[in-house]
Amino acid sequence: MEERIPDVIDVHTPSPARMYDYWLGGKDNFAADREAAEKVIAAHPEQRRLVRANRDFLVRAVRFLADQGIEQFLDLGTGIPTSPNVHEVAREVQPAARVVYVDNDPIVFAHNQAFRATDDRIATVQADVRRPSEILGDPAVKRLLDFDRPVGLLAIAVLHFVPEGEAVMATLREALPPGSFVALSTGTYEGLTPEQRERIENAYAKASAPAVIRSRAEIERLFAGFDLVEPGLVHVAKWRADGPETRGRLLAGVGSLKPAD
Ligand code: SAH
Repeated sequence: MEERIPDVIDVHTPSPARMYDYWLGGKDNFAADREAAEKVIAAHPEQRRLVRANRDFLVRAVRFLADQGIEQFLDLGTGIPTSPNVHEVAREVQPAARVVYVDNDPIVFAHNQAFRATDDRIATVQADVRRPSEILGDPAVKRLLDFDRPVGLLAIAVLHFVPEGEAVMATLREALPPGSFVALSTGTYEGLTPEQRERIENAYAKASAPAVIRSRAEIERLFAGFDLVEPGLVHVAKWRADGPETRGRLLAGVGSLKPAD
């Protein structure tokens, strides 16, 4: 990887996508990413386990959505490809599932474009979740997703980089047709000491996106307009599973769009 780094990749600024890749044991990361990622581990020794639990949540949530009949997905904050990817999980249940991957990190775009060459039901869009209208208006989104039929919106481990998460979710929710779902996980300071929270925020301070760690009540508000399905908003390891809880947490939930009044 280090031998053919495209110009658009800034290897000196820690990137959340590459830090996440490092925790998952991937190879698409550089010294600056590893240093920032290790600072998070120093503040929260169970970080790797938490990230793995988040990925497992993603798999269970996508499978759940596919079981509800969802066959088109809009995945916000996709990350560097890691097995299994969203389209692979969805297609175990819905063989014709279509997925649009969205990420603002050029490294994610570069990797995901490899899929597009071989699969016309997958698209990758380099866009910023903070500008949801641009995502909804993107030609690839319009081509691949039919907003007259239920959509599975994924916002997994991404809104803790998006301070305006509530407004973003409101814009997206308005575009979703009846029968749609959202699957979401995001960082909370519940369970952390104030010192741990500060150290985690500091580790991201020099990264391309600072961390926005929320209270449970703030995370509940991200689900406005959706009804949380069982078991509600819980530690990622506990959503329809019984994994071990870590102290630093990502809270996770799946919401079904409330019927229009
Ligand atoms: N959703 C995947 C990856 C999470 S890592 C999973 O849960 O396994 C978080 C991803 O969000 C990174 O790839 C990062 O580049 C992306 N991201 C962070 N801020 C973003 C933004 N404002 N717009 C789009 N993507 C963003």
